[in-house]
Amino acid sequence: MFDTIIVGGGPAGLSAALHLAFHKRSVLVIDRRSGPLFYTLTELWNVPGFVAQTGVQIQKTMKLEAEKAGAKIVSGSVSQVSGRAGQFVLETTKGEKFEAKTLLLATGVARHHPLISGGYEPFLKYAAKGNTYYCPDCESPELLGKDIVVIGVAGANSAVAEAAPLAEFASRVRLLLTGGTEFKPEFEAKRQKLNLEVIEGQIASVDGAKGMVRALILEDGTRVEADGFYISSPKVPRTDLAKQLGLQLAPKGHIKTAWRGQVQLEGAADGEFLAGVWAAGDVQPQTQQVSIAAGSGNIAAVMIDQYLQKLESRSLGHRTNLEVGA
Ligand SMILES: Cc1cc2nc3c(=O)[nH]c(=O)nc-3n(C[C@H](O)[C@H](O)[C@H](O)COP(=O)(O)OP(=O)(O)OC[C@H]3O[C@@H](n4cnc5c(N)ncnc54)[C@H](O)[C@@H]3O)c2cc1C
Repeated sequence: MFDTIIVGGGPAGLSAALHLAFHKRSVLVIDRRSGPLFYTLTELWNVPGFVAQTGVQIQKTMKLEAEKAGAKIVSGSVSQVSGRAGQFVLETTKGEKFEAKTLLLATGVARHHPLISGGYEPFLKYAAKGNTYYCPDCESPELLGKDIVVIGVAGANSAVAEAAPLAEFASRVRLLLTGGTEFKPEFEAKRQKLNLEVIEGQIASVDGAKGMVRALILEDGTRVEADGFYISSPKVPRTDLAKQLGLQLAPKGHIKTAWRGQVQLEGAADGEFLAGVWAAGDVQPQTQQVSIAAGSGNIAAVMIDQYLQKLESRSLGHRTNLEVGA
């Protein structure tokens, strides 16, 4: 029986694990290693304490810190959750079972990659490695003076919305609309205002090497060259476990949380939080950045520790009568 099980070992889960383990809580992180930092070989410029490190380096360092503090981190995919505060049971796809008094869901979001001849796998060689970008709030300044193609995987309107902050930095922004070409009038007006040229078509192949895309080759043979490629992709919160627990979701499908990561059951009144369960990181409805995810993991961990303190008095630093020889 662990004090806390954390599902998800990205920045949110690892930051929470560090805090809890440092406070002498027994904490287990179960992670299936599909978070973006496991693959991001480009440098991140907005993560305090880690400036100009790759996502991979940041991920490794945060894991080492949590382990050094005493957290146990295992690889696995949690498929089932049941129970309630004091006794949650989690089961992985391999049938392993783990129990904990409290639970933190830090499962992040899934992103879609562009399809190449109908499959996303060929793009994995380039995703988050060289000159491909996924996060306007994180990466826009890196596009200063560059010629950028926004690949609209999620449809025309969201491609315009995500192109807008990039257009402040890039010298030229074009939209390659692979996921739908219909604009709502307000998005068409914005597209025209920002002078975003439209390219239509599906990608047949990529001309590139060592993580750098030189050009996208479309099915009609058109060669689309650019300095960088921004992927405007649907972000799908990973909420399978939240749904099993009956948690309320926010309008865009994230786990609805209060600011300290507290969650509510479906139908619960505002402020009526579910005991023993918290959520942190991108799976919450918030801006998706490493430091925000880590901060939300930290605050959830503080709440979890305080909750556990109320359940038990540990007197960790007190010497017993036996120890002092009485
Ligand atoms: C290409 C790219 C570039 C980025 N660049 C930046 C940047 O420059 N600066 C910045 O601040 N942010 C950047 N971000 C965003 C940043 O990576 C995320 O905001 C951050 O990783 C979110 O952390 P998280 O812990 O909430 O989720 P994640 O990092 O997504 O981690 C969640 C983990 O939970 C695991 N998981 C999910 N479900 C289960 C389950 N059932 N069982 C076991 N494990 C599970 C996943 O495998 C994953 O490892 C970028 C994102 C991308 C995609």
